[in-house]
Amino acid sequence: MIGVSQGTLSELDQDKYKPSIDNVSFYLNNNTVYPLLKPFLTTKQNEQLLNDILNGSEGRTSLAGQLSGSGPKGLINEDLRYCPACLSEDCANFGECYLNRYHQLKHINICHKHNCSLISKCPECSFDLTSNSGQLYLKKPVCPLGHKIDPIPDSVVNIENQLQNDLMTDFIYLMENQGDTDANELSVKLLSCLGEKGYIHPSGLIHKTKLINDFFESYSEQRLASVIPEKRYFLERRTIKRLFKSEF
Ligand SMILES: [Zn+2]
Ligand SMILES: [Zn+2]
Repeated sequence: MIGVSQGTLSELDQDKYKPSIDNVSFYLNNNTVYPLLKPFLTTKQNEQLLNDILNGSEGRTSLAGQLSGSGPKGLINEDLRYCPACLSEDCANFGECYLNRYHQLKHINICHKHNCSLISKCPECSFDLTSNSGQLYLKKPVCPLGHKIDPIPDSVVNIENQLQNDLMTDFIYLMENQGDTDANELSVKLLSCLGEKGYIHPSGLIHKTKLINDFFESYSEQRLASVIPEKRYFLERRTIKRLFKSEF
């Protein structure tokens, strides 16, 4: 081997090969759901998240882990998923298949491009198509037991799919057009909109209960059931108190 020492990297080498914050940001922006989280984080939280990824969380609960995991605050679905139609398209266009970041969002169960259901198991034998440990990913649209996975046309575009599709359109817009928006800026914009719509009393008090009731009436509780908790959760005292705090 030329110029590469065997064994573990020395501390000096580790520093030399350590990615910079800019490199980590670039990678996260282009390959993960980080751009969807970023506008909802304060500048301080964003710095903590990048630092956790770069240097480890030093025994604290990692903010990156909380947000990217499948726990209550996490955005990512527990099982990694594929769109059968995207699998075939990727294979035809690139010679192999990829995991799409937009398919891994919790509560979004359809591909926004093909409007069909996402799958984590083979439609024919129910064998897992991926392992969350990262050891199994599909390279071709074929399950590990050899069944070809064909695109399944979803003939029924139901009301739930429509809501998920609308949400994805908003998510993608947010991911691609956020600039340097952070949670404080977003909070100011939101409060300004609420003021214009009459949800803020001249004393500064926000009519939160009315806002929650109007929101659920506008979208219908039934439609929202697949993507957010029930209305009574938002009306709980402790949830209401947390609403509109820029740092969650
Ligand atoms: Zn698709
Ligand atoms: Zn199979």
